Amino acid sequence: MRGRSYLRPEPWQLAGSPADARWGVQATRYLYMNGQCRYCGEHAQGPASSVTAHPLALCLACGTPQCDKQRGCLVCMIGFVGRVPYGQSTACGYARCGKPAVARAPRVGRVCTHHLIQATSRGRTLRSQIDNSVRLRELGGLDWQKLTWFGPERRYAVRRWHDDGRTGWTTGQHRAGFETAGAADREAAAWNDPRTSDGWHAERVLLTDEVRAQIEDWEGRAAGRSAVARLT
Ligand SMILES: [Zn+2]
Ligand SMILES: [Zn+2]
Ligand SMILES: [Zn+2]
Repeated sequence: MRGRSYLRPEPWQLAGSPADARWGVQATRYLYMNGQCRYCGEHAQGPASSVTAHPLALCLACGTPQCDKQRGCLVCMIGFVGRVPYGQSTACGYARCGKPAVARAPRVGRVCTHHLIQATSRGRTLRSQIDNSVRLRELGGLDWQKLTWFGPERRYAVRRWHDDGRTGWTTGQHRAGFETAGAADREAAAWNDPRTSDGWHAERVLLTDEVRAQIEDWEGRAAGRSAVARLT
């Protein structure tokens, strides 16, 4: 199975600060008469040829930050970005609900967070569709979405555990971990393959400082065990 190609972000769209780190879409750099938004790539207020940004907004359904010029969420595609579009009621479309709407929905128009588990489209609840989109976001989204991470470099580890209670970690060829979510997922799939796994299971984990500390702790204990094995 061939891995999906991983889109590297061009520097002009990179996050200006850690708070600005986000999933988005790579756009072409143009020299506009005014500025260009580093979120959506469209022109925006600002000095000629500058890189600037439309106001930041969060998808009300999946929480992904993006600029408020998005007509629909880049990631989940059904959540409202920042607010309910102008001219629509801001209340959930389910009878007697009245809670703030977060996403558009078939038949009832709009739904609140609570009713995402009730509204369905093509036989699946909106809740499960949104959860799936957020999971796929780490892998670049659906093929046509071509999502890119604009923020500090992300690396991944594979956490594994055995039916007999043993645990372990895999970070690939680099101690710094797997470069892409896809590479880590392929490693995890190999550990999970029932024909060869011999009782092991595995999952991809984002390599945060906390996870790094856990891995170092595990490596330390593994080194201790082999030292004991040499002595006995
Ligand atoms: Zn924008
Ligand atoms: Zn969303
Ligand atoms: Zn509702």
